[in-house]
Amino acid sequence: MREITKHLLEWYDLNAREMPWRVMPAERKAGVMPDPYAVWLSEVMLQQTTVAAVREYHRRFMALWPTIADLAAAEDADVMAAWAGLGYYARARNLLKCARAVVAEHGGAFPQTYDALLTLPGIGPYTAAAISAIAFDQPSTVLDGNVERVMARLYNDHTPLPAAKPVFMEYAQRHTSQTRPGDYAQAVMDLGATICTPKNPACGICPVRSDCAAQAAGTQLDLPKKTPKKPKPTRYGIAYIARRLDGAWLLETRPDKGLLGGMLGWPTTEWNDDPAGLEPFLADWDTLNEQAKHTFTHFHLFLTVQTAWLPMDAKPERGHFVSAEDFSPSSLPTVMRKAHALAAATLRVD
Ligand code: SF4
Repeated sequence: MREITKHLLEWYDLNAREMPWRVMPAERKAGVMPDPYAVWLSEVMLQQTTVAAVREYHRRFMALWPTIADLAAAEDADVMAAWAGLGYYARARNLLKCARAVVAEHGGAFPQTYDALLTLPGIGPYTAAAISAIAFDQPSTVLDGNVERVMARLYNDHTPLPAAKPVFMEYAQRHTSQTRPGDYAQAVMDLGATICTPKNPACGICPVRSDCAAQAAGTQLDLPKKTPKKPKPTRYGIAYIARRLDGAWLLETRPDKGLLGGMLGWPTTEWNDDPAGLEPFLADWDTLNEQAKHTFTHFHLFLTVQTAWLPMDAKPERGHFVSAEDFSPSSLPTVMRKAHALAAATLRVD
């Protein structure tokens, strides 16, 4: 078991994946350290999202706001629009809060320790460990889904998640490198993402194969065990998509609190078992046959879409008009984009 850290680091030296925010192991050995701002941004974006999906968003954010001071000074609406499509929008709101706290309370420089990072908005135990290890080479232990899977298999531990988390953390701590903690954190996460994958682990080329108890027992595909989740409920709602005769779309910014808080979207009813059809204003509404379907963390949503044309002098009580030239579906969260895609054919300007 003592060899695990050594073998992992040797493997990482040869196989580290290139990422825009990553300093490769050879450069790191030469003393180059990553930009903590870029590392933090990547870690917040990577929560619940894959590296492939994050690359382009990360590039765009770094181009728009190259430093944390730039991001802290940005307009909320611009940041929310740039985040649209990444999901879990509370992360974007916390991103801004955190940037502003780092500028206001830490002079624009991220604190370096796990404990200090944990006091910042939107930074939980995993992200604090990842930033302190990757950006500052502090010997913090990261435990994400990839690392949990690797630890369950190395120790052939069949305790189901999430109850097993503290034990898996203890295993992970045993192997955390004291000399190269930043590279080690990235190595173990890369191993989980590319070799020790959920369905098809490549044990034949795994650098820690000789220390893996699950591989020896042939149980790797059964691990990690998980306590079955309750099925997600389904909620229903109605989205009202209206267009003025000059082509302007009626949108509204959702309240800061709650799901999709602060994001741009169509006026909708509440989302529940049986939404009342409280149309936001009087218009000649058409109901589309197809619904926009979307799955959030805790529920499935079926959104009925109603469309209407509005006269030039319309003064709806909800929302604001956005001209056709200024409107871009890419600034909407995914569920609102789906609703727009359904309505677009009905509300076309030829
Ligand atoms: S030997 Fe297989 S199961 Fe064990 S850590 Fe490596 S890839 Fe995962």
